[in-house]
Amino acid sequence: MGAAEFELMLKSAVGAEGVLVNEPLARHTTFEIGGPAQWLVLPRTEEQVAAVVARCREAGVPWRVLGAGSNVLAPDEGLGGVVLKLAENFAATEVLPGGELRACAGATNEAVAALACEQGLSGYEFACGIPGTIGGAAYMNAGAYEGQFSDVCASVRCLDGEGHVVEVPAAQAQFGYRHSLMMEQGLVILGATLQLAPGNREHIRAHMADLQRRREEKQPLEMPSAGSTFKRPEGHFAGKLIQDAGMQGKSVGGAQVSEKHAGFVVNTGGATASDVLALVALVQQEVNSRFGVTLEPEVRLWQ
Ligand SMILES: Cc1cc2nc3c(=O)[nH]c(=O)nc-3n(C[C@H](O)[C@H](O)[C@H](O)COP(=O)(O)OP(=O)(O)OC[C@H]3O[C@@H](n4cnc5c(N)ncnc54)[C@H](O)[C@@H]3O)c2cc1C
Repeated sequence: MGAAEFELMLKSAVGAEGVLVNEPLARHTTFEIGGPAQWLVLPRTEEQVAAVVARCREAGVPWRVLGAGSNVLAPDEGLGGVVLKLAENFAATEVLPGGELRACAGATNEAVAALACEQGLSGYEFACGIPGTIGGAAYMNAGAYEGQFSDVCASVRCLDGEGHVVEVPAAQAQFGYRHSLMMEQGLVILGATLQLAPGNREHIRAHMADLQRRREEKQPLEMPSAGSTFKRPEGHFAGKLIQDAGMQGKSVGGAQVSEKHAGFVVNTGGATASDVLALVALVQQEVNSRFGVTLEPEVRLWQ
């Protein structure tokens, strides 16, 4: 099947307005880096997600899923095939009896944390400043300030390899440090149900404000980045190792090890994915040769 015919199929699945052609990924990643996606597709329903994935599989077209793009480095040359973006277009939330909160994959952590607070439900405060979606949080098992997604996850709603919608209970989601079954198997996350506990609305609000203040103090939130570049190595902090290796402030092109927090690589303006990758390699090499510690990227390096 030719590209034009496939594009028509995509448009029939999600509507013409839901298919962006040669769409720069820099517009969809917090790093503000990345060349064009051949087709950036914005489904609004689970049926549309399933239809797009099925059509890609049938036609042998590569596809991947993007949330808020806050943990992705997209390549300069762009990507062939489909990027399914599940963000603003797929963001419904619902509070259920018994402290459960159900959110579609594209709901932001900020919105979910705010809704939980408004409802007097505690447990998701840790995520209020993590600038991603519920899909990205489940996939990455995102965490901060002693909390992680798996602490409050009851189940994750996924599209399995055969295109069936399945509800994966948290106990089967193989959550680990920045790891999940969904990552392992490349499952599309459609949403998740959180189990929260009753709490005092004012305490929850004050807790979130405190976490946000701590984040603003320590992190270079004013510059484009993808958060912590590296995972926390066993027994160490990546930022401290990078600082001690004398790499803080080091630049390659427009990419720089943040002056404010050495655990972040920031885009100082016009950085390319190649700049970031070269800087990541340099930092890894330096930290390894000084301390014998291998830093593993936390940011998903798309190719
Ligand atoms: C300033 C800043 C601070 C940050 N602080 C933290 C922090 O404190 N803790 C933390 O854990 N992270 C942090 N991050 C990183 C990032 O916000 C998290 O990893 C977040 O969970 C990613 O969500 P996302 O929606 O942006 O996912 P994306 O970046 O869009 O995607 C990340 C990965 O998840 C996959 N994915 C996303 N949605 C789906 C889906 N619906 N189905 C299947 N796969 C999907 C993508 O394919 C990709 O591989 C920070 C980032 C920034 C920029």
